[in-house]
Amino acid sequence: MPMTYSVCINCGVEKKHPMSKCSNCGFVPTSNEDKAKSLILSLDYEIDDEYCGKTKEELKVIAIELQFGNSYDFDPLEVKAVVDYSHRVDAIQPSELIIDGLKWLLLPISLLIIALVFLTK
Ligand SMILES: [Zn+2]
Repeated sequence: MPMTYSVCINCGVEKKHPMSKCSNCGFVPTSNEDKAKSLILSLDYEIDDEYCGKTKEELKVIAIELQFGNSYDFDPLEVKAVVDYSHRVDAIQPSELIIDGLKWLLLPISLLIIALVFLTK
């Protein structure tokens, strides 16, 4: 079920993507903490492919609160968990890609070395 709904953590207006620029106040989440908070207030909030966020109805209530100038109390532990998770994802991806790349390169490289060894004899 593809749903896109996120709330600008600055002004509470609806946006399509949690990391996109708010069309109302121009706010863009840049710090890890702001990105984590933006993700928490969106329907894209997934950790390990499991939806951890709020229902759209809950988000709408929070959005209205923010629009009235009330701040939403983020759970600091939750924000930290999301930041840690994104660090983990960032850290895992490049090394996995390198290992995948090496697997593919290993056979041609060994064949090349064998060929070179025979050719230089
Ligand atoms: Zn905004």
